[in-house]
Amino acid sequence: MNAPARGTVHPIPKRMKAWVLDDPDRLRLVEKPVPEPGPAEVLVRIDAVAICGTDVEIITKGLPAWIRGGLPFNKDFTPGHEYMGTVVKLGPGVDDYGVGDRVAVEIHAGCGQCERCRMGMYTSCLNYGLNYEGHDKGHRANGFTTDGGFAEYAVNHVNTLVHVPHEMSDEEATLIVTAGTAMYGLDVLGGLISGESLVVTGPGPIGLMSVAVGKALGASPVILTGTRDARLNLGIRLGADHAINVGKENPVEAVRRITAGKGVHYVMECSGAPNALNEAMDMVNRGGRICLAAFPGQPVPVDLAKLVRNNIYVYGIRGEGNRATHRAASLMAQKRFEAKLMHTHTFPLDEVPKAFRYFRERIEDAIKVVVKVH
Ligand SMILES: [Zn+2]
Ligand SMILES: [Zn+2]
Repeated sequence: MNAPARGTVHPIPKRMKAWVLDDPDRLRLVEKPVPEPGPAEVLVRIDAVAICGTDVEIITKGLPAWIRGGLPFNKDFTPGHEYMGTVVKLGPGVDDYGVGDRVAVEIHAGCGQCERCRMGMYTSCLNYGLNYEGHDKGHRANGFTTDGGFAEYAVNHVNTLVHVPHEMSDEEATLIVTAGTAMYGLDVLGGLISGESLVVTGPGPIGLMSVAVGKALGASPVILTGTRDARLNLGIRLGADHAINVGKENPVEAVRRITAGKGVHYVMECSGAPNALNEAMDMVNRGGRICLAAFPGQPVPVDLAKLVRNNIYVYGIRGEGNRATHRAASLMAQKRFEAKLMHTHTFPLDEVPKAFRYFRERIEDAIKVVVKVH
């Protein structure tokens, strides 16, 4: 919905519709009180929320959600973390956002006081989940440790907000946080990127966004690997110079061929495949860097000797720290890539379970499934 101009009064109901997680895989639509913003917080009327693989993890297994010191089941907890909306009420002292502003959110507000938060690594907050009576460090990560976006309203700390330009649709704006994760991975790799070579393994949403953001930052060449031609073709439209179908071609040999035997500077691993790290080590050159943005379900053997001998650096990332979401939003506002190509389906709030089914079963090639709330 196009938001009314700043300053417009929005009638705010006392109660709202929200989905809550009962037992594993059981979501239920309930009525909840509309939350009140505190100091440095705003009330966001949620306009759209996207489904993410992590939401599926949470509703089936619980982690990484952590509510009142335990798993999130049967605690009246509302999941959903990739949302955008309209600021409708300001908490005390808020002046950098106004009523009527369109905003997207990043997930982690952190506690703001631990060592990692103070370093900008608020997604690695040392007080994760400590926000309840007797253990209140003020940590917030909506959809993980506090109520999230499968609802009509949510309270957000101002540190988690980013402005959304007029021309950007609600659906596209839900992708800002995904682009933020890709940006954070490239940040952590520490690359200058421009003119440097990048392989992205796995064309899921974060992989596709890593292609788009890497290309927008000038990486060259950008090489995407995956198993499905439709996703690989989308990767090409988002900026990949080469797409390799690993079912048809050995990806290590292909990377070596494309780089004339040299290998690449960086690998963003977004597949979670059991052998992905070993393959990534064969794709980077000596001194190269690998960022793991996905992981296998089980422990896997890794050729550590190769890693040590070749001075290869391996990083893990958690979410989207260090204001990476703001940098990603800026690239999207500048239309440096067409994020909206990743949005495939939209459902109303009443149909959240159906939206999840489309996402999980990849019905009609679903990639980003968005729930339109207002
Ligand atoms: Zn997510
Ligand atoms: Zn912290």
